[in-house]
Amino acid sequence: QEDQFKKVLSHAKEYGYVFQSSEIYDGLSAVYDYAQNGVELKKNIRDYWWKAMVQMHENIVGIDASILMHPTTWKASGHVDAFNDPLIDNKDSKKRYRADVLVEDYCAKIEGKIEKEVKKAAKRFGDAFNKEEFLATNGRVLGYQEKINTILGRLGKSLENEDLADVKALIEELEIADPLTGSKNWTDVKQFNLMFGTKLGASADTAMDLYLRPETAQGIFVNFLNVQKTGRMKIPFGIAQTGKAFRNEIVARQFIFRMREFEQMEMQFFVKPGTQKEWYDTWKETRLKWHLSLGMGADNYRFHDHEKLAHYADAAADIEFKFPFGFKELEGIHSRTDFDLKAHEEHSGKKLQYFDHAENKNYVPYVVETSIGLDRMFLAVFSTSLQEEELENGTTRTVLKLPAVLAPTKAAILPLVKKDGLPEIARKIVDDLKWDFNVSYDEKDAVGRRYRRQDANGTPFCITVDHDTLNDNTVTIRHRDTMEQKRVAISELRDIIKEEVDV
Ligand code: ATP
Repeated sequence: QEDQFKKVLSHAKEYGYVFQSSEIYDGLSAVYDYAQNGVELKKNIRDYWWKAMVQMHENIVGIDASILMHPTTWKASGHVDAFNDPLIDNKDSKKRYRADVLVEDYCAKIEGKIEKEVKKAAKRFGDAFNKEEFLATNGRVLGYQEKINTILGRLGKSLENEDLADVKALIEELEIADPLTGSKNWTDVKQFNLMFGTKLGASADTAMDLYLRPETAQGIFVNFLNVQKTGRMKIPFGIAQTGKAFRNEIVARQFIFRMREFEQMEMQFFVKPGTQKEWYDTWKETRLKWHLSLGMGADNYRFHDHEKLAHYADAAADIEFKFPFGFKELEGIHSRTDFDLKAHEEHSGKKLQYFDHAENKNYVPYVVETSIGLDRMFLAVFSTSLQEEELENGTTRTVLKLPAVLAPTKAAILPLVKKDGLPEIARKIVDDLKWDFNVSYDEKDAVGRRYRRQDANGTPFCITVDHDTLNDNTVTIRHRDTMEQKRVAISELRDIIKEEVDV
């Protein structure tokens, strides 16, 4: 797994997908730049989401709200008071950690022991091995599981009750050591707000303290009535938005999985109070279908229903994805009640209510939201698509099997040789296809090497112009995944590519 993750990192850099930000200055931790191919993949994912959410739903419209918002927004939303991580410092190493993550990592190690037991037993019992039964009945495994439950249960309670002294006590009782130095000399646990602050205005005494938004959702809530009125929207309806969000994350690791500056794709769906459960179930199902439509394997997804709910929610679930480092949250679906709109009513003194003609009354709608990280989705797509294949001739090839609809370049046009008029024909094909798709031209190296380069780049089609083309206007089209080659007329190319890359 670790190996696969390393390959993902180096491939993302080598093929121009993701670079570390300000790399010449040794980078900035947990901040990344999307490179020439990455920006296309990211845009295609965003478009695929937008199409499914906005274009395909008559009752969902989009907005693009600002990153900077009136500071009272974050008081109302609860972010000023409650958007915190519990931090602990090690007195010897002077390193800072998230206290809850130290405990969770400790539990992950116990989880590793369970996995080892499962592997051992599977080997011993062979075909007769039943994993479910083993997990439910094996004494040692049950012991481990109980230990994990006890620890996480206590952690959850202490955090909920703001009992930070108990979080520290838990770390000491478990004898958790600094992962880097092994020291067990800890400070007290303190809450740390994740929002980035900034200032509006030039003069020191009149400048206003602002925050960079930590989520895009609030831009939708404060615009709720403007959109509803001007768009004459009838409940149930949704407002969608994609855009940057900022969080001063302390555990900044796992590449673009957890960034300090990232992009969200969110949709807030406004419903009649009392119908939220139905809509919550509907959106859970709809969003999973969206993921499955990309064909990245149903086994890579699972739901995680939350037992412990945020202050604003009456139901919440994550769609988890199997990243190279295990199943982790990719998207959240939350039933947010009327918490946000009511809070904004209270803090702004303005009514944020909907007049329901059928019911002949005003009410504050309930909200069901779907919230997915664009960068996490990028990592999900990229890491799953990166594969190494053994070929029949004993060699291996690296191929980035991106869903064709998301691939940065749809086709590469390759003249077999750099003479005899073949480059000119290839250029003409490029000029013709570029109106419809991103295509590229490549004449360097032997054609086999060019195929490999395009495979690794994720390009679904290679189109080769050879000497026969001069006689009959046909070319070879090679499919990235099957490596099958077919002879087709130049005039058919557009339709063949369209068939594969259109949704
Ligand atoms: P986590 O528990 O992983 O910190 P979260 O529950 O705080 O995530 P939400 O506030 O629900 O996340 O945000 C919605 C989505 O935004 C997440 O499902 C994730 O895909 C994305 N996201 C959140 N934080 C980050 C981050 N630091 N970097 C990249 N994506 C993020």
